[in-house]
Amino acid sequence: MTSPENCIFCKIIANEIPSKKVFEDEALFAFHDISPVAPLHILIIPKKHITSLNELLHEDIDLMGQIVLRASLLAKEFGISDHGYRLVNNCGEFGGQTVHHIHFHLLGGRHLTWPPG
Ligand code: AMP
Ligand code: ZN
Repeated sequence: MTSPENCIFCKIIANEIPSKKVFEDEALFAFHDISPVAPLHILIIPKKHITSLNELLHEDIDLMGQIVLRASLLAKEFGISDHGYRLVNNCGEFGGQTVHHIHFHLLGGRHLTWPPG
């Protein structure tokens, strides 16, 4: 499993790897995805290194609430809230997770298909 020392998203939070940051506070970091799959594709991550939803603890409830609220606020800020958008978490191999630091994709700016591939 990925540890904070070799985690690409921990390095982005620490500014050791550049990113196009759109938001930061004491708990969260948000930045544009490097390979966007929609006109707006932002990743929202906690600064705490949590590997995936599988490792979520009761103590992380407030953090998850902050992420969902931040998604709503960023959607408004980036002008996608009226048409609608999607907030996605990929968990584990079958979920398509490739970076093992929990993250939520905020996707918008086009009509998104359902179900996803
Ligand atoms: P997932 O497949 O759900 O684990 O999503 C990982 C996401 O991280 C993918 O959409 C990647 O394009 C994105 N990603 C990987 N490396 C970077 C990076 N250095 N900066 C921004 N986004 C990244
Ligand atoms: Zn990490």
